[in-house]
Amino acid sequence: MTLDVGARRRRTRDPVLTAITELGSATRADLSRVTGLSRSAVGECVAGLLSDGLIVETMTDEPSGGRGRPATVLRLSSRRGVLLGIDLGHAHVTAAAATSGGEVLAECSGELDVDHCPERALDLAAILAKRALRRSGHRLDEVMGIAAGIPGPLDMRTNVVSAPTILSDWVDLDPAAELEQRLGRAVLVGNDADMGAQGERAFGAARRFDDFLYIKASHGIGAGIVLGGQTYRGSTGIAGEIGHTHIPGASNWCRCGSRGCLETVVSISAVRERLAHVLSTSGSDMDVNLLPPLAELARNSSAARVLTDAGRTIGRVVADLVNCLNPAAIVLGGELGAGGTPFVGGVRESIDRYAQPASANTVQVTAGQLGARAELLGTIATAMRASTLIG
Ligand SMILES: [Zn+2]
Repeated sequence: MTLDVGARRRRTRDPVLTAITELGSATRADLSRVTGLSRSAVGECVAGLLSDGLIVETMTDEPSGGRGRPATVLRLSSRRGVLLGIDLGHAHVTAAAATSGGEVLAECSGELDVDHCPERALDLAAILAKRALRRSGHRLDEVMGIAAGIPGPLDMRTNVVSAPTILSDWVDLDPAAELEQRLGRAVLVGNDADMGAQGERAFGAARRFDDFLYIKASHGIGAGIVLGGQTYRGSTGIAGEIGHTHIPGASNWCRCGSRGCLETVVSISAVRERLAHVLSTSGSDMDVNLLPPLAELARNSSAARVLTDAGRTIGRVVADLVNCLNPAAIVLGGELGAGGTPFVGGVRESIDRYAQPASANTVQVTAGQLGARAELLGTIATAMRASTLIG
């Protein structure tokens, strides 16, 4: 399916579904009159909605057009639907089946090198999605919407992964088409940080905000940008790659091919390395190699300083975004977002120091409420919104 066909379909589906919802029941002629679409466009759209199970067609007792034939009317389907969300991280894949209201019914996970094994990752995503669906007690023909998040930028013009320096083994892949082929249903695909933002907005710390940044700080560091209630993706879909901002004084090579990127200084693996060092020299009995939660490590004062420093470094980059975009909130997610008060405090300090007071004084800085599940729940929230539009 090309982007143009998908966009055209969405443009007709939206008004047709809205008209059916508002009228309660409607004939094709009613829909053509109310929406202003041609009869053939309505006919094509209705056929798609019927085949996806979003609407049903029933007979009425009233004759149609005086010829004694019973009329048929279209109504929204009352059938119980289910949503599928798929979260692809750099090293894991998780799929969940949820009710149309967003309540998770079943969740399945697997670990694998997603960055370097795209085909296997997509295969696993489809297997886990089908498994979660089965465990939820639903069938594929009951699925109302599917969305997936991938750990890299998608070019909105072509639907393919396009940044050769960030997710190089995925370049030229169309993840939506690949997943659609494996699942037999349309799948809406977006960047993982954007999905995290949608998760926190639907179910977590960003529920009150129309203008906020969600910072996913894990192996990579990306920002999901929501402005005026809408996800902002930039002109081609690459916005938010803050992990590749140059940090003065840093010189390590980054996976993007450049040197001194934010990610080389404060990725979760770099921070864990530093934590291991300070814990071993401070005589702590905590073993960072056992990957204890960061909030637990933060009870050690030396470890807390490392987390505060990491927060300050990310906060220095976020402060420029605060100056530029004047958001109402910064929501900190990913593994580092779970670093508790020291990490959040470090980000806050840098914003207070480097952003203009008028913006810094009003922006809230907070940890996400959904932890590692923000991206997955964001795909569910996206599937919920997409359930009436994709096809
Ligand atoms: Zn980089």
